[in-house]
Amino acid sequence: MTETAIAVEGLRKSFGATDALRGLDLTVPAGTVCGLLGPNGAGKTTAVRVLATLALPDAGSARVNGYDVVRRPAQVRRSIGLAGQYAAVDEGITGRDNLHLVGRFHGLGVRGARRRAGELLERFDLDEVADRLVRTYSGGQRRRLDLVASLVTAPPVLFLDEPTTGLDPRSRQEIWDAVRELAAGGATVLLTTQYLDEADRLADAVAVIDRGVVIESGTPARLKAAIGTRIEVTVAEAAQLGAAAAVLAHFAAGEPVAEPVERRVVVTSAAGRSVALPQLVRELDSAGVAAQDVALRTPSLDDVFLALTAPPGRAA
Ligand code: ATP
Repeated sequence: MTETAIAVEGLRKSFGATDALRGLDLTVPAGTVCGLLGPNGAGKTTAVRVLATLALPDAGSARVNGYDVVRRPAQVRRSIGLAGQYAAVDEGITGRDNLHLVGRFHGLGVRGARRRAGELLERFDLDEVADRLVRTYSGGQRRRLDLVASLVTAPPVLFLDEPTTGLDPRSRQEIWDAVRELAAGGATVLLTTQYLDEADRLADAVAVIDRGVVIESGTPARLKAAIGTRIEVTVAEAAQLGAAAAVLAHFAAGEPVAEPVERRVVVTSAAGRSVALPQLVRELDSAGVAAQDVALRTPSLDDVFLALTAPPGRAA
């Protein structure tokens, strides 16, 4: 699919002296999951709020489902679902009644609203708890109900703002399954997250945002490949650290770093170059290095993130 579901160009938004968005560019093809990844205060929520027509941008443009968020807000609102960090469901009624109310609010008749609630509860494995008060739900069930409530009108574009923040691992897994199910059904999903594993597991493409701009984007695999592989060699005798470092230099992009206390030499391979473990071991052998442990670590999105984002305190 080549259609663009979300197109953002040069988006700016300030709150007093704080520049939350400083020229954000983002393109999300229809039917894909985009992970907007960034630390606290990077501007993720502000971006979602502008895209969902809850806040006006100061400059730049954004189109959702083909509609400009400033000029055609009503059409944008009809095109989107929004679920977030803070579940917006009513705890004093059942899950089924929550969905029913949302359907009625959006103009579905009594029967239509009931039917839609039933379908969604079954599809997202909430039918067993559907007739219990929401206050008795687990955190994950509640968040899943919130997500499902944003789907009542079957919007083609979904914004999920940190959907698993604060959830335990099992509840996170439940939300991930629900997002996968949505993606399989053809929805376009913009997911903001601080969790790198979440973006890695769910997103077709990731945009790393820091201080209001996208600093890197691509598939999770491409971003990881851009960082290279970490190679760690632990030697039996500290005296061999120099020889081990000399061997590792053949595989490295930068200078090998010796960690004498651990009797370890660490280096990161050149980006995009895979490291053949047998060849490394052979070269260590021929240099007479007795290696106790040789480890290759594929970079995680965490490594990508650390490599890309500025350390705290750097001037913007
Ligand atoms: P988090 O992961 O903590 O939710 P975020 O990436 O979603 O962070 P935003 O909430 O978009 O970041 O905030 C971006 C910047 O704008 C922050 O410095 C924040 O303090 C500021 N900001 C956001 N909303 C407002 C507001 N209504 N008034 C003043 N400042 C705001």
